[in-house]
Amino acid sequence: MSKERKRKTEEPRLPRHSHCLNCGEAVPPRKKHCTPGCEREYSRWKKREQMKTVGMILVLLTVLIWFFVSNYFLFPG
Ligand SMILES: [Zn+2]
Repeated sequence: MSKERKRKTEEPRLPRHSHCLNCGEAVPPRKKHCTPGCEREYSRWKKREQMKTVGMILVLLTVLIWFFVSNYFLFPG
C-alpha cells in the first residue's frame, strides 16, 4: 500500500493562467474575464445573485418577524 496518492498531472501547455469568471475560458493570470462583454455579463449575474440572496434573507426575516408577532398577539404572556 502506498501512502501517497498520485497527483493528477497538470496541463503542461498552460502553466499559469486563470479562467474567465463568466464563461470559464482560459485567460492570463491577472485577468478575470476574457472580454469586456463577459465582464459585464458576470457583474450583471453577480448583482442578480446578490439580489436573490438579499431577497431570501428578507423573506426569512419577514417570516420570522411575522411568526413572533403573531405568536405575541395570539398568545400574549
Ligand atoms: Zn468569458
